Amino acid sequence: MIPEPLLRGRALILTFHRVFAQRDVLRPSEPDVSEFESIVQVIARHFPVYTVSELVNNLRNKKLTQSGVAISFDDGYLDNYELAYPILRKHGIKATFYVATGFLKGGIMWNDVITEGVRLLQAVEYLKNDHSVRASTQTASEKTSCMSQIVNIVKYLDLNQRRAWLESFRDMNALESLPSLMMEERHLQEMHAHDMEIGGHTVSHPILSSLEKEFAEQEIAQGKHFLEKLLQSDVSTFAYPNGKPGDYNSNHIDFLERAGFSGAVTTRWGTIRITTEPYELPRIGVRGQSRMKILLRLLREYFRS
Ligand SMILES: [Zn+2]
Repeated sequence: MIPEPLLRGRALILTFHRVFAQRDVLRPSEPDVSEFESIVQVIARHFPVYTVSELVNNLRNKKLTQSGVAISFDDGYLDNYELAYPILRKHGIKATFYVATGFLKGGIMWNDVITEGVRLLQAVEYLKNDHSVRASTQTASEKTSCMSQIVNIVKYLDLNQRRAWLESFRDMNALESLPSLMMEERHLQEMHAHDMEIGGHTVSHPILSSLEKEFAEQEIAQGKHFLEKLLQSDVSTFAYPNGKPGDYNSNHIDFLERAGFSGAVTTRWGTIRITTEPYELPRIGVRGQSRMKILLRLLREYFRS
């Protein structure tokens, strides 16, 4: 364990989305279980571990004396429960799971329609500027490059255009059924009963700044109420969908405050200090094949000047 006085006044929040049983060529930025376990081992051995809401409480008291590391997962993937949660429990540490509530009953996120479609098919058809494009997706590299081209088209569509685009994509490629990738309500209840924090991540995962103000406020408040009813407990921190500066603005911070959230995480890279704004907490990603590398990366981020 690194001596507590050295750690005071700073904290790190790690971001994950998914953990795979084996390395996934289509999601190379996500760890497999053995890499994830190495990261957890390093954290459990060297740092005090908190939930994000515990860090926020401490930050709000302007002390940050309980400093260390928090682990966060975004979106609510089933592998969080099936693969990550057992590893966290085995090593006796907590984490915070940000869940978009609209996907708890067998929903699938738009990026996963693309990833899983491309994974299944040997060739895909899709619309680009209203023209149909056909791409071969036989090899891993064809699949990867096709996915990034498609994501770049779909990312910039508004909600209705995106819905129509996805429908056409599923029709053109006969993708009636796709695997269910997300957690269900009972998974959240079980993790919550074992000291994991469940946090808000809206209902349908829109980029907040792309919505009319009142719809953004509804997405924030309804996601929170749903989780609080399900868990019979306060839900006190939030993760902005996509989470980069510009994906949210000061209106959304007001909405979070009004809904009763005490803090929020972004996807901006950085270390938390006493002066960090609780509604704009930066996070980091850490990967590494050896525990020594993982520890050095964590220390470099922690003590970055
Ligand atoms: Zn997300």
